This record gives sequence, structure tokens and C-alpha cells, in this order.
Amino acid sequence: MTEGGPIHTDALVMFFSINKNTLVLRWWSKNTVAIVTGANKGIGFSLVSRFAELGLNVILTARDSARGLKAVDALMAQGLHVHFFRLDVSDPSSIQSFVSWFKERFGALDILVNNAAVSFNDQNENSVEHADTVINTNFYGPKLLTEALLPLFRISPSGGRILNISSRLGLLNKLENPKIKEILEDQERLSEKQIENMITLFLEDARQGTWKSRGWPKIWTDYAVSKLALNAYSKLLAKRYESCGLSVNCFCPGFTRTSMTGGKGTHTADDAAEVGARLALLPPQELPTGKFYIARSTLVCF
Ligand code: NDP
Repeated sequence: MTEGGPIHTDALVMFFSINKNTLVLRWWSKNTVAIVTGANKGIGFSLVSRFAELGLNVILTARDSARGLKAVDALMAQGLHVHFFRLDVSDPSSIQSFVSWFKERFGALDILVNNAAVSFNDQNENSVEHADTVINTNFYGPKLLTEALLPLFRISPSGGRILNISSRLGLLNKLENPKIKEILEDQERLSEKQIENMITLFLEDARQGTWKSRGWPKIWTDYAVSKLALNAYSKLLAKRYESCGLSVNCFCPGFTRTSMTGGKGTHTADDAAEVGARLALLPPQELPTGKFYIARSTLVCF
């Protein structure tokens, strides 16, 4: 395995090293359309920038128009041209407006990056006070947007691509509740209903103050549960659309210096986006589905 390539550790998790020198085999054109959510700053912004540098037709979305347009201007100052539309992923009517606009303007898409997310905890905190917002934004947001965009994926030899920006905090090994773990591990029978039931159970525990003793992930619990659900949903989608040429993968960017981490981290948003972009743009013959990738903060050669 060469530096910068995917490292197979087990059937579920793969590592992708941060290596700016890795060449990307170009299969796309200026007509290849990519949508990135939550892209006015952080990793989303860097992903848009990287996609635009590589010559894709990119739609930068943000929940706040002023912040989104400022990001577009910053890219324009670097000679990069992208499209903008306001999109609050936690608001179904905003998703609807965005999808109508997108359908009218572009007709079809090739790549969707569900990047937008929130956490209300500082690094060593673990409050679930905002659990509803966290779950709505980080799980139901990408799910509803994906469902609304699914009919618009272009049928092409390169395949449609969904990259869900997730977190290792939401890996199954962080879950200690044996019953829920068993349900999520049974990928053959896992259903959307079961994932949503898990969410309902967690929100109930959060409301009743019983969440600490029910085996939920211990770090950033509400955020971790939202990503646990996103990971499970991604697997389910991957399986469902495998034969239709649509790949669905998750990507954990690693501990990255953004607002979400209070500026702490082992690498920059640009570094993380470089890896994320490479994953989203893997050549069709190397494109996996149903995988969870983790970016490594240092160069690794296995
Ligand atoms: P940032 O906080 O820098 O960026 C988050 C982005 O999401 C912002 O643009 C924010 O907009 C947007 N956003 C929040 N809520 C909504 C919403 N309802 N609708 C649309 N956009 C919204 O975080 P990161 O760049 O670090 O995070 C990007 C992704 O990476 C997330 O999915 C995160 O979970 C994941 N991740 C990050 C890690 C890290 O170490 N940084 C580690 C693991 C995963 P606004 O500016 O308006 O708030």
C-alpha cells in the first residue's frame, strides 16, 4: 500500500493519510456538479475551495446568506468561482427551497457532501442541553437533504457520490448499550425505523436526565449519537443504492482546527479537506461504498 492510499484495517474502518502531493486521477469535468453543506467556514469552506481549484462546478451552501456570500467573495478573490444558495439543513422548508432552486438551475448532481454540523460543547464538556438541535442538524438534516436530492443524481459511468462528514466519536465501539449495539451491528436487517427509534430513545434519556447510565457514547454524547445514526444510515443507503451506481461513504476529518474545536486540533481545515476531496473524487474503479474513513494527521506509510 502506498503513502496516501486507503489503508484497510478491518471491514469497516479505513485510514486515509493527509498528503498534499498525492496526484488525483482526473475523471471529472467542469460540468461535474458538487454540493457542499455548511460551507461558509471550516472544513466545508476548504472542501468547496479544493473542489473549485480542481475545476468542478461547485455549490457553496450556508445557513446564513451574509456569511455564505462573504465566503463566496473570499473564494472569488482567489480567482475561484462558485455558486451560492442559502441552506439551513435543520429546516425542511429551507431544504425544499434549495432543492427546487437546484433542480431548476442545474437539473442533476454528481457529488453531495453532507458537512454541516453543530456541537454545543467545549472540548472537555458534555452537556446534552441542545440534544434536539444537534440531532436535527447532524442526522435528520443530511438525511432529509439526501432523500430530496436522490432523484437528481446523474446516472453516469463515474457514479454518484455522497460523502457524509462524520466522526470517530460516533463509531460503534463508543456505544456500550448492548441492545442498541446489537441492532446497529445487524446490518442485514437494520432499518431506518430502527435508527430513528434509537434517536427517540436517546432524546427521551436526554430529556429525563437518564442518559449518563444508558451506555451512550461518553464523549460529546449528543453529537456522538447524531454521528452514530449518520454512520448507520449511510451504510443502509450504501447497501440500498449499490447496484444503482451511487456510492455512500463516511469521512472523519480527524481533530481539525476549526470553530467546532475552539481552534484546537492537529491539522488545518485545508489539510482535512484535501483528504476529503480526494475521497470524494476517487477514480470510479476505486470507489468504494458503505465505508468509514478516518484522516490521519501525520503522513503514514503502511
Ligand atoms: P465548523 O463549526 O467550523 O463548521 C460547521 C459549519 O456547519 C458552519 O459553516 C456552520 O454554519 C454550518 N452549520 C451549522 N448548522 C447548520 C445548519 N443548520 N444548516 C447549515 N449549515 C449549518 O466545524 P467543522 O468545519 O469542524 O465541521 C465540519 C464537519 O466536520 C462537521 O460535520 C463535523 O461534525 C465534522 N468533524 C469535525 C472535526 C473537527 O475536529 N473539527 C472532527 C470530526 C468531525 P455557521 O457558520 O452559520 O454556524
